[in-house]
Amino acid sequence: MGFEKFGLVSYVSQTKLSKFTQYLEEGRIYATKCLKCGCLQFPPRANCSKCLSDSWEWVPLSGDCKLVTYTKVDAAPAAFKAEAPYLLGLAEFSEGPKVFAWIDRMIPESAVKSGVGLKLKPFKLSNGNFCYTLTAPQSV
Ligand SMILES: [Zn+2]
Repeated sequence: MGFEKFGLVSYVSQTKLSKFTQYLEEGRIYATKCLKCGCLQFPPRANCSKCLSDSWEWVPLSGDCKLVTYTKVDAAPAAFKAEAPYLLGLAEFSEGPKVFAWIDRMIPESAVKSGVGLKLKPFKLSNGNFCYTLTAPQSV
């Protein structure tokens, strides 16, 4: 299985990080950890964004995170037009890295506030591929 099973629009089918989509399919969230400087990367990266090392290992994340900020998208890019309007959030994992993701539609917009605790959860898209979304902690 390759990376073609990620998201609504996938730009590559094979990367060193293809196992990421397998983890999502299994309901798990994984980051990469640089073996040179220890930096955690999410989404996973084959090269460390701090020291550029290409030595890394998979590390499971709890999914626990806190919303840093968010925005509402009314005018979506072509590939996401059917989903609009939707909320996008930037959240920080308890382990440190940040994630940019959809905010679950089950969370009322009035409850979406900076600082609120959320959980990043893998889910299956209507096209059969996998992605992740910021959900309320109790919905997991
Ligand atoms: Zn590094």
